[in-house]
Amino acid sequence: MRRGERSSCPSPPCDTIERSGFNPRLSRREPSVAEHPSDTSDSRCDLLLSGGATITMDDERRILEPGAVAVTGDRISAVGSPTDLGHLSAARTIDCRGSAVIPGFVSAHDHLFQNAARGWGEGVDFRVWLPDFMFPLALNMTRDEAVAAVTMTIVEQVRTGTTAVLDHHYAGTDVETTLAVAEAVERVGMRGAIGRGLGREQPYPPSEQFDMMTAAIDARPAGSKVEVWPAPGDIIYNDQDFVAASVQLARDKGVGWHTHCSQYKTDPDVYLAEHGIRPVLWLHEAGLLGPDGHFAHMIFLDDEEVARAGECNAAIAYCPISHGVFGLGTMRLAELRAAGAIIGLGYDGAVAGFRNDMFEQMKMAVMIQRLKAMDPTLSGPAEALELATREGARFMGIDAGVLAPGKLADIAVVSLQGAHMTPRPAPVAAVAYSARSSDVQLTIVGGEVVFENGACTRVDEVEVRAEAEAAAERLIERLDLDLSVLRRA
Ligand SMILES: [Zn+2]
Repeated sequence: MRRGERSSCPSPPCDTIERSGFNPRLSRREPSVAEHPSDTSDSRCDLLLSGGATITMDDERRILEPGAVAVTGDRISAVGSPTDLGHLSAARTIDCRGSAVIPGFVSAHDHLFQNAARGWGEGVDFRVWLPDFMFPLALNMTRDEAVAAVTMTIVEQVRTGTTAVLDHHYAGTDVETTLAVAEAVERVGMRGAIGRGLGREQPYPPSEQFDMMTAAIDARPAGSKVEVWPAPGDIIYNDQDFVAASVQLARDKGVGWHTHCSQYKTDPDVYLAEHGIRPVLWLHEAGLLGPDGHFAHMIFLDDEEVARAGECNAAIAYCPISHGVFGLGTMRLAELRAAGAIIGLGYDGAVAGFRNDMFEQMKMAVMIQRLKAMDPTLSGPAEALELATREGARFMGIDAGVLAPGKLADIAVVSLQGAHMTPRPAPVAAVAYSARSSDVQLTIVGGEVVFENGACTRVDEVEVRAEAEAAAERLIERLDLDLSVLRRA
């Protein structure tokens, strides 16, 4: 069902919710190249990416081989063949022959601070891991440790071509730490939103949590390069009134909101027993399913919940590596997309998968669907790349994810020349199946090169790594873990 035609979703339609962040009028709308005809009348541009296999992800899914992308300011100003754009005088031209030029990746769900726990708790059941390890770790983290971990994660993510992130941050949710984390994301050069954790695991009474939330959003209001959003921890384990109040605050402030839902096999039954309704059906009834809600996981949905999520164009983060690491289950990807849900791909923290690598996520996104259905015709590299780029941007409500004039210049350049690509498959399969993080040559956010020549351009990576290492060591030492259960893999 297309947005606007839905009839049974009580959630307010997109257009009635004022969101000034991330170009809300474009939020959830199908991107359209026709709105941004190629403007090559100006003979100058700031940056020209020329000669690469240019995978536009536009409505026709055009691949220009060779292609060229011109960037002026923070936007793409022209896309075409190198000949089409040959008249442009660029302040800088980058020769992309032998590489793919693609829209930057979007991580639709993350816990950036969890870098500090990489390797810990491998092979432990999720409902033990979370309360007995991750919550104590999060609540013990100092501001400096959180910033060190988050900075390290963002460095890793721009190295894999990621240009935007939706973080769920519940380690140090005081206003100063929340803002310091947002600042860390922006310092490395990425855009996104920090979903600040709210809920019963937080060490503040509810009214204080909302006061702090308000102050944090006001400091980074809608429209900031990195916004702050309310993020109740999990629909299953928070009071309905508390969740509804969190959403109301988001709506009052014109920002999105983020939460977890139906991630673990018993979650819907736990919710049903306590509230007499399945969680996604309650979200629907309460008008919270769309368009400003951003949900992590939603693995365990029955047929009616899939239909409601689709009708409301619910934005759902699919985290295939995390789902595999914790043995959680497999999202009903094809059914949700067919129904109308908007699916992005998320890393869900470095502890869930040991590394932030969108190429690994894309491949696994397809493979676990095929394994579950025992059907190799399901999904494929084109869908994987779509989820990681175009749909990820739609999920976030950012005007990116497509290489077309007028779009934000969030771009990655990926080498197609490794031994693992010789002979080379078609460009989309080469990127979605063969490539890996170390093939990323260039990451551009809003027209600014934030990664090139093997290094981040805005931070000293040697320093960032030393700080992240030292901070994680201090934190783990303080935790006094039960090493019979939680050891380092
Ligand atoms: Zn998560």
